[in-house]
Amino acid sequence: MTAATRKVGVHYDAIYEKHDTGPHHPESANRYRVLRAALEELPEEVIRIPGRRAGVAEVLMVHEAWYHDVVYQDVESFAERLRTGDTAICEESYDVAMEACGAMLAAVDAVMRGDLDSVFCAVRPPGHHATATRGMGFCIFNHVAVAAVHLLRRHGLSRVAILDWDVHHGNGTEEIFIEDPEVLYISLHEKDIYPFTGPATERGRGAGEGFTLNLPLPANSGGEVALAAWDEWITPAIDAFQPEFLLISAGFDAREHDPIGGLRWTDADFAEMTRRCVGHAEKWCGGRLVSMLEGGYNPAGLAAAALAHVAALGRGAG
Ligand SMILES: [Zn+2]
Repeated sequence: MTAATRKVGVHYDAIYEKHDTGPHHPESANRYRVLRAALEELPEEVIRIPGRRAGVAEVLMVHEAWYHDVVYQDVESFAERLRTGDTAICEESYDVAMEACGAMLAAVDAVMRGDLDSVFCAVRPPGHHATATRGMGFCIFNHVAVAAVHLLRRHGLSRVAILDWDVHHGNGTEEIFIEDPEVLYISLHEKDIYPFTGPATERGRGAGEGFTLNLPLPANSGGEVALAAWDEWITPAIDAFQPEFLLISAGFDAREHDPIGGLRWTDADFAEMTRRCVGHAEKWCGGRLVSMLEGGYNPAGLAAAALAHVAALGRGAG
């Protein structure tokens, strides 16, 4: 597949700015405003796609019904935080989270129809810390997990890989699929930071043994350390699994100058990781790839890294 034949989509919408986390919160509407302004300048061959609102039944493919109701009730009662953890909410947060989840489903459907090869979904709140029963770490619903189950149940796939390069371990995604051999979960993350999960020794449980791959990276390390781990562990794991679809939890908080993350990846590193993902998708998935925004808290840095990511989605694996 050449650069000319990869059809890339992007999803962004001002609706995500309605999730108000309060003043001085790193996961702010402002970070999204800066990103959206950058995405609006993308060349026209990157096709902007609409999202949609997820149905409750779709969210319940991953989350327990009582937890969904907790989110709804906390938002309706004007709580400032979810009662399950450190997630700031406002009166719009339930609706915005349902839109973020639905956007991932719309993106996955567009790629499965063959309309597009890949889509970057710029949504918020992020999702990868949310477990089936608990919102935490700025996350309410786990959108990438809902998209993976949607691919298995609604599209009949049997092998979906999720690659999570957010600087934090995606404890929610791991926990949801820990016993599931149909979902390969791979996480690159900084060692010994929030949420203090994801040791390399954790490889899955039961039928899911061997379908979780954690690659904790030392603080202050640069992209070359991650890329070496990619060669040694990620490429062999993906080749062994032979996924039919590749999802990326694309946080950009491992980027240099992020106020929360302690790694030093550059925009060129994000482009190279994207190029590798496109290579994996072209080898095993018919090119099918959907990425979604997770973290990334230096607004200008987030925008620059996301643009490098989208550009590399279009260039392909070469
Ligand atoms: Zn993060």
